[in-house]
Amino acid sequence: MKDFIYQSNSEKVVFGTGKRMEAAKELGDEFGSRIMIITTKGRMNAGLEIADLLGDKCIGIHANAKQHVPIESVEELLQVLESKKADSLLSLGGGSAIGLAKAAALRIPLPIASIPTTYSGSEMTPVWGITEDGIKTTGKNDIVKPKLVIYDPELTQGMSPYLSLTSGINAMAHAVEALYAEKWDPITALLAEEALRSLYHSLGTIINDPGNMDARSLALYGSWLSGKVLGKVNMALHHKLCHVLGGRGLPHAETHTVILPHVLSYQSNYVPEAMKAMARALGNIGVVEVVPALYAFIKQHNGPASLKELKMNEGDIKPVVDLVLNQKIYNPRPMIKEELESLVWNAYHGVL
Ligand code: NAD
Repeated sequence: MKDFIYQSNSEKVVFGTGKRMEAAKELGDEFGSRIMIITTKGRMNAGLEIADLLGDKCIGIHANAKQHVPIESVEELLQVLESKKADSLLSLGGGSAIGLAKAAALRIPLPIASIPTTYSGSEMTPVWGITEDGIKTTGKNDIVKPKLVIYDPELTQGMSPYLSLTSGINAMAHAVEALYAEKWDPITALLAEEALRSLYHSLGTIINDPGNMDARSLALYGSWLSGKVLGKVNMALHHKLCHVLGGRGLPHAETHTVILPHVLSYQSNYVPEAMKAMARALGNIGVVEVVPALYAFIKQHNGPASLKELKMNEGDIKPVVDLVLNQKIYNPRPMIKEELESLVWNAYHGVL
């Protein structure tokens, strides 16, 4: 057994089909009597349903969250919160809705409750991000970590097969990098392996049968665990690379989906224990089968296969690698410039 340090941080999690209907009871008095719902335009109907459940305690629905949290949308929300004298924030949606609530809470420290509708996992982390002038700055602050999270698989039913797959692979990426994190600990590793198992064995069913609530429930359970490990340990090359690509305007979950098999292929010989855990999670396959199985899984379910199809500029390959190398992060395999350039070149062209 390796040495480790484990420290836990708590939040309340309520999980189950239809549990959003208990939002008023779960928020109780802890979130005050002036709750602002933060969401995206597409989740407005769900927002209206929750507003109705909260009754007089809901002071409005702010449906203007956008991907990567542009500073302009933060400033806009801060003005609304000040004028409405909000007591707390309730994010309803994917990482963009949670991200906007977190960015606002950095400036006006209001408690956040969260009802996630994708598998991004952001609701489990103290990580915030704000994009200004095309550059996304991130940081960690416990003040922005939701204190209550209600997971209701019914709310994920609206995700298309494509969004379910890419959001699910985004969640799997958190678990993969937790398995070889610098500050590895055995509890986090167990959660990460279980997250991978749950997501891998539910996403295919969801794509073929989007209304299958057992599969929806298993995937959301997996995404909770993935978010938990994302909030616990620092991520490595995969997340840093996706972060830099996101700053260049590439879509978040799709970019994770294209990059994951390539980064895993880069790391595989340097992380034998993590590869064994992944092999178990993917159905007790051989360790050498993990990367091809993941790649085939994405292709078979019509996921994005190249950065080119995500509209990346080929001329950005070298600058992106330079930006990643400037960040001085921990990675289990030394980050070699030429090797990383060929990794991104392969991902750009969709060749593994
Ligand atoms: P998103 O929140 O931008 O959602 C993508 C689209 O799907 C939006 O148009 C949204 O309205 C729609 N949508 C959401 N739920 C839906 C549902 N159930 N049915 C149908 N459509 C639905 O995307 P995301 O991938 O969830 O989040 C991405 C953002 O989250 C990025 O900005 C990323 O950087 C951030 N993120 C942050 C963390 C963190 O810990 N801070 C972790 C993961 C992701």
